[in-house]
Amino acid sequence: MNQNLQTAYALAYILEKKYNAMIANIKQSNDNFYVDFQCKRKFNTNDLLSLEKEIKRLSKSNPKIVFCLKDKKGLAKVKNKYLKYWANNTSKTKINCLKIDNSLFIFVGNKIISFKHINFLTLTNVSGAYWLDSAKNEQLQRISGYAFQNKNEFNAHQKLLKEIAERDHRKIGQELELFTFSNLAGQGLPMWLPNGVTIKNEVENYIHDVLIQQDYNFTQTPVLGSVDLYKTSGHWFHYRKNMFPSFKIENEELVLRPMTCPHHMLIYKSKPRTYHDLPFRLAEHAILHRYEASGALLGLERVRGMQLVDTHVIITNDQILNEVLHCFNTISICLKTFGIKIHSIDLSLHDPKDKEKFFDNEKLWKAAESELEKCCKKLNFKYRKMVGEAAFYGPKIDFQIKTALGHIITISTIQLDFLLPARFELVYRDANNKVKTPILIHGGIIGTFERFMSILLEQTKGVLPLWLAPIQVILIPVDEKKHLKHCKKIANDLKKQWIRVKIDDSDERLGKKIRNAQIKKIPYQIVVGDAEIKSNSISYREYGKQVVNKLAFKAFINKLVKQIDEKK
Ligand code: ZN
Repeated sequence: MNQNLQTAYALAYILEKKYNAMIANIKQSNDNFYVDFQCKRKFNTNDLLSLEKEIKRLSKSNPKIVFCLKDKKGLAKVKNKYLKYWANNTSKTKINCLKIDNSLFIFVGNKIISFKHINFLTLTNVSGAYWLDSAKNEQLQRISGYAFQNKNEFNAHQKLLKEIAERDHRKIGQELELFTFSNLAGQGLPMWLPNGVTIKNEVENYIHDVLIQQDYNFTQTPVLGSVDLYKTSGHWFHYRKNMFPSFKIENEELVLRPMTCPHHMLIYKSKPRTYHDLPFRLAEHAILHRYEASGALLGLERVRGMQLVDTHVIITNDQILNEVLHCFNTISICLKTFGIKIHSIDLSLHDPKDKEKFFDNEKLWKAAESELEKCCKKLNFKYRKMVGEAAFYGPKIDFQIKTALGHIITISTIQLDFLLPARFELVYRDANNKVKTPILIHGGIIGTFERFMSILLEQTKGVLPLWLAPIQVILIPVDEKKHLKHCKKIANDLKKQWIRVKIDDSDERLGKKIRNAQIKKIPYQIVVGDAEIKSNSISYREYGKQVVNKLAFKAFINKLVKQIDEKK
């Protein structure tokens, strides 16, 4: 018996009977439930515990639930306008209802419910919700929660929710002062705080170095493009709903770019090319803007302003296999450094029967798809073939990871594109001096920095490896008057080795300073007192460990430099 189902109806009944609420919507799944309602009384989180108790009392009294089929026309006379709406919007003439005393609810679900066995429940949240989830409609109140019949299941679920909360990148971002949002600045437009910028720069520099090693060339192109550019690329017709509106200035119409591909096509076109130039590899840390509905925005996971490590490679037809493997190699090197394992691979192919969804050139599709499949076989990962999931312009490979919370998400992607080079009239001269049209590969190495940061914070709970930690070492003087000078000397020596160091010269007591360093998840905490000054040694404690180690100052610096170099 679904505990969430019966608990949701029990809550709805209490809200209506005791608080005179008008129930608008009752939703439940295996994991949770919520009730949306309109009520003069405004509920807040302090009310949740007493509501839980009322549900338990109701369960004990076990009122009789009567199931009935009501005539659609009969329901049109009820007072509750929301109930009337649901009744009017069904194609059925008879509607399943349940009645407790005088309270009548439309009922969706398994009819075998009773309030008798509601045992373990938690009301988790009270919030605002729009009627039919549309911001244009009136605002309602929503109370959510979950319930289980069995104590073990209930405890396991509580543990999972705690884990989710601990790994929530928005919470970690706030604690470690990494980024902030403000409606005044604009929704979905993150502002990076100094600590966040430090991490972002480290990631960016690292990816930059790997791409240079992998023979990519960096370019930098503007955040604005002319509407004609996106008409040429086709984005203006196929992607416009994800773009911000354009604006006119002098005789130009400009728009914020949602991707870099069109600009990169023009970089290729800046001079004549021959087969010697191919593969032509371009990379850019690109600022992009994409429109997302405000309801879909979520921390750094879904944003409107982002930075993408974008790569494009222009190749000949017979370079597909080698270049896709090269791109995969680049992705693997990067993910491995961050301790992220590829879980599975999706090979998205076209559907030959669907001539509308896919660019029509069967010969080209066949050849490219067989090359991509050869790549997948070489990669030694299990892969799924997804027929009909390719992009309009070509097949693609998506690389999936399993997040710390068990979700499977795409992190990296390699997409073939037969169309864009032709739309921009890109050509090269082959070995026989014949003019040919190349193929394009879009390569997403780690996705956007924003989303990557959210993954990184979720995986690590904010305990970042030394090379990424915004503050790598904190120095804590035992007695500020006596030991601050020596702290400054150590800090200067560490800075000379590019180690990020801070001195805690606040007025807090020693114990509190050590606890603060723990909260900020600083990898090395060094306490400086008389003994350390006398012996010119370092007493340090690593994050998460209790033991205090002692090392000669030089040995300590060498240890840190080595660890940072190895990206551990
Ligand atoms: Zn692209």
